[in-house]
Formats: sequence, C-alpha cells, structure tokens
Amino acid sequence: MAMVDLIARAGVRDSATLAAMLRVPRHEFVPVEDRELAYGDFPLPIGYGQTISQPYIVAFMTEQLHPRPEMKVLEIGTGSGYQAAVLGEIGCMVYTIEIVESLARRAAAVLARLGYDDVHVRFGDGYQGWPDAAPFDAVIVTAAADEIPPLLLDQLAAGGRLIMPVGPQDGVQYLTVVDKDRAGQLTPRVLLPVRFVPLIEGKGGRR
Ligand code: SAH
Repeated sequence: MAMVDLIARAGVRDSATLAAMLRVPRHEFVPVEDRELAYGDFPLPIGYGQTISQPYIVAFMTEQLHPRPEMKVLEIGTGSGYQAAVLGEIGCMVYTIEIVESLARRAAAVLARLGYDDVHVRFGDGYQGWPDAAPFDAVIVTAAADEIPPLLLDQLAAGGRLIMPVGPQDGVQYLTVVDKDRAGQLTPRVLLPVRFVPLIEGKGGRR
C-alpha cells in the first residue's frame, strides 16, 4: 500500500498533513542507497547515528500541531530535513535547528534545491531555541529528553502548542503535547509511546 494510504489508515485525518506528505519527495531526504525504501512506513538511518522518523510518526506529530499556512513553527532536530519540508509544504514558516553541522548543511542544501524558501535551517543547540525568531505558534522537538527544555516553552506563543517525545533515552518515551493558553498557562497531555534518538545537550546546556 502507498505510504500516505498507510498513514491515513493508521488514523491520521488532517487533510493538509496528508496532502503535504503526498507531495514532499521523501526519497530526496534519505541516503541514495536507500531510495527504493523511502516510501515504506519505517525510519531509516541518515548517518551520524541519526534517523529520519517513521512517516506515520511524522504525520501524527504534524497533525497534532494543526498546521496552517503562515504559521510560525520551530523544529528542534532537523535531521534529514523531511519533517521541516512537510511543514514547509503546508505553507508554514519553519525555523529548524540541528546540532550536527554536516546534517544541518545537507538538509539546508536539499531544502533549498527543492524550493522550500520558507524553511530556515540553523546549526546549533536546540535547547536554546531560536530567540530572535520567537514567539512560535508551534514547537516540534524530534528527539527525546527527560524534560521539555524550558526555553522552548518560553518561546511558545500564547495559544500555541508544543509536541515532543518525553522520557528516558534507553526506554520508551511518550509523545507529549503542551498547550499554552492565552494567559500563558501550560497544559500537558500524553499521547502515545514512541522511540526517538536522544536530544543531545549542547555546550549551552540546560538553563
Ligand atoms: N526531524 C528529523 C529527524 C530527527 S532525528 C527528520 O525529519 O529527518 C533527531 C535529530 O535531532 C538528529 O539529527 C540529531 O542530531 C538532532 N539533535 C539532537 N540533539 C539536538 C539538539 N540539542 N539541538 C538540535 N538538534 C539536535
């Protein structure tokens, strides 16, 4: 079955998310030798010990953000750039940070070649967020940690939503959404068990 049919059958309903995933050429974001595997519903290695996430998880997380054109989204963990491309395809203004410089450079090149002009890639430590572009309507963290980095919650706009896998590196993590209401009050909700690569603590460390 085709990748997006699998994702829809697994329960993802948001039409903007499904349409974007039909259009983004995932094979451009995987290693050349894995291109024929690019449309299966599984993660793939992208070098440097990192992975491009399973398409279903990309779709699930994207849908949870209720993405709309012009929305400003911060992503931590650019990796291949695929998740950023899906958000860019929807028309979001995407700011994505990657701590492995070679991955950041490669993703930026692919995204530019495919014409995703509203996706901005920065090499750096995601724990710090992207203060000069904040606040963000949505924040998506695609690597796991025991706690949500506080600066990312600070940079979330009122009325915005963050999604991130929370839990230990060597165990099961839980995909968690945090809504920030108009008064700045945070409400977390746990959605489903997942396994992500760890969020690396950069030089800036935690606050
Ligand atoms: N969203 C990616 C998959 C992410 S894999 C995709 O669509 O392909 C997780 C990525 O997070 C890895 O590339 C890893 O290097 C990066 N990462 C880990 N810790 C980080 C940090 N502190 N700041 C920014 N990126 C980080």
